[in-house]
This record gives sequence, C-alpha cells and structure tokens, in this order.
Amino acid sequence: MLCLGIESTAHTVGVGIVDDKCRILANESSVFSPLKGGIHPREAANHHAENVVSLIRAALLKSSVDPHDLDVIAFSMGPGLGPCLRTGATAARALALAVDKPLVGVNHCVAHLEIGRATTGCGNPVLLYVSGGNTQVIAFAEGRYRVFGETLDIGVGNLLDKFARGVGLGFPGGPLVERLAAEGSELVALPYSVKGMDVAFSGMLTAALELHKGGRILGDLCYSIQETVFAMLTEVSERAMAHLGRNEILLGGGVACNERLRSMVGRMAGDRGAKAFVPEAALCVDNGAMIAWTGLLMHRSGSRLEIQDSLVNQRFRTDQVDVNWMAVGAQ
Ligand code: AMP
Ligand code: MG
Repeated sequence: MLCLGIESTAHTVGVGIVDDKCRILANESSVFSPLKGGIHPREAANHHAENVVSLIRAALLKSSVDPHDLDVIAFSMGPGLGPCLRTGATAARALALAVDKPLVGVNHCVAHLEIGRATTGCGNPVLLYVSGGNTQVIAFAEGRYRVFGETLDIGVGNLLDKFARGVGLGFPGGPLVERLAAEGSELVALPYSVKGMDVAFSGMLTAALELHKGGRILGDLCYSIQETVFAMLTEVSERAMAHLGRNEILLGGGVACNERLRSMVGRMAGDRGAKAFVPEAALCVDNGAMIAWTGLLMHRSGSRLEIQDSLVNQRFRTDQVDVNWMAVGAQ
C-alpha cells in the first residue's frame, strides 16, 4: 500500500510518500521564511500554492511511483493557519479526484507522534511535542491521544523565534539561539512557569527581551532561555510519565532538533530507568511523510472521508481523533 501525504499547516509545505512498512520513499518540502516580521498566513499560503505541484512531481519522481499506483491521498486537516491548510487540502482533493483515490484528513499533532513511533521503534510513549505553534504532552489513553499538558499561551518554537527576531538574529530562531547558547555561561533568572503539566512562555519572552534591552550578554540570555525552557518541558514530561506509569518518552516537532533538550530529556529518562526516543531531524520538523504514514494507518483501519466532508479545521484538537488503528500500528 502506498500513501502520498501533503503537509501545509504553517510555514512548511511538504509532500511525502510512504509504504505500509513506513519506508519513506520521498519526503520533499519547501519552507516559507518571511523577509521581515512573523508569518503572514496569506503570504505563506501563496508560497505553498506556488510550490505544492512541483513538490508532488518531485516526490513521485524521487520514489519512482506512478500516481495511479497510489492507494490513498492524505492531507493535514489541522490544527494550523486557515489559508495554509486550505491550500494543502485543495491540492490533495484535486490529486485524489485526478487519480480516483480515497482521501484521508490527518491531525497534524497525531502525525508527529505516529511517525516517531514507527521510525524509532517505541511502543506506547509519552510524546513531548514541541514545535513552532504547539507545545503538548500527549499520551494514548482509552482510544485517543490525550493531551495531559500544554502551553497556556505560545508554542516553545514561537518563543525562540520571537526572541531571536526581537534581538535581530533572524528566522528560524531555534537553531540560532542554540548556537549562541554555547557562548553563554551565566544563568540569568527568568520566569519559570509550570502549572501542573501545563507551561507558559510569554512572561519569559517579555523578561528576556527586557534584559536584552538592559544590556545583558546575548549568549548568556540564549543559554538561560534554553536551560529554563527545557527544564520546564522536562519537568512536565517526567510528571506525565510518572502519572501514567510509562517508561518511554518520544520527542517530536522542530524544537526536538535541539541537542540540549534531547540531552535533558535523555538524562531524565535514564534517571528513572526509562528510554528516550528522537526521530531523525527531517521527521521532527513539519513534513509530508508523517502525514502520509498517519493517513495510511487511518485508511488501513477503515477511516473514510468524502470530498464534501473534507473541510479543514484550524482548531483540530489532538484528542478529537478516534485512534482505532492503534492495534494495527503498534504491531
Ligand atoms: P515545526 O513547527 O515543527 O516545523 O518546527 C519549527 C520550529 O522549530 C521553529 O520554531 C524553529 O525555531 C524550531 N527549531 C528548529 N531547530 C531548532 C533547534 N535546533 N533548537 C530549537 N528550536 C529549533
Ligand atoms: Mg508541527
């Protein structure tokens, strides 16, 4: 079985093709980076519209798959930016109609989890999903992926991007903050905002930008942001693991590329006799392969979607999805 998946929730438009062993035959993408300021949804959607057809062609070419040999077409149904989601969904509908194949709408957050489970070999983990717009602690319980903790304001990647932009570093901020953090040595006190298994970051963003204006060394600030933010995320992940009695933690989302976060979570897992799993970087960031794989799991477990029901959902919650493929996917 072959599935082509289209990702387009935010800055990335991606097209992936996977088979039923989760072999990734193609995973092509293009990232919209604004020259100035944040992501404007319409501008990002225009970028996606300009690139999606050539990405579909490139993915088919790379995988040597004839479009008529695809079994199912999947797309990111949400959560995300409306214009961006609609662009990906339109491309998926057009392709599904052109080759007369079924369509599947995938929850983006669930896709991060599924691609991690399939490619790292973990079974039933707690997922720390850390990306630009999302920050969630997720685990499977009673038929659904439930959100045990999440950000109460902005996503952790958004914090790093906004800080980097505010101090003139550029975009995306995460890798730039990581590089500068290596030059820092002094831990500056920043708001540590953990409420149960939830976190909040906007107070830290304001404080860090103020400290920068006050002349604090940028390397020290980057170092302190990383130490504080990743300690918060490690703490809530550990609380979820303890609460649920799980001995696996899986990282996902673009911020999971960060070495310091990986090492903190790895250390926490090791200390409690658990294991940490991290997908390769190309599968941590937003990508089409994770949508294709989750679409394949859903289709294989009987999920069906008519074109007229394929509207996107900007606020699609992780726990709205009936995970009836779990028994199949866990094999
Ligand atoms: P995503 O939304 O999952 O595609 O991930 C994009 C986010 O990941 C952006 O906010 C980036 O700043 C962030 N990111 C990428 N690489 C790193 C890194 N090495 N450290 C921290 N954040 C990162
Ligand atoms: Mg994402």
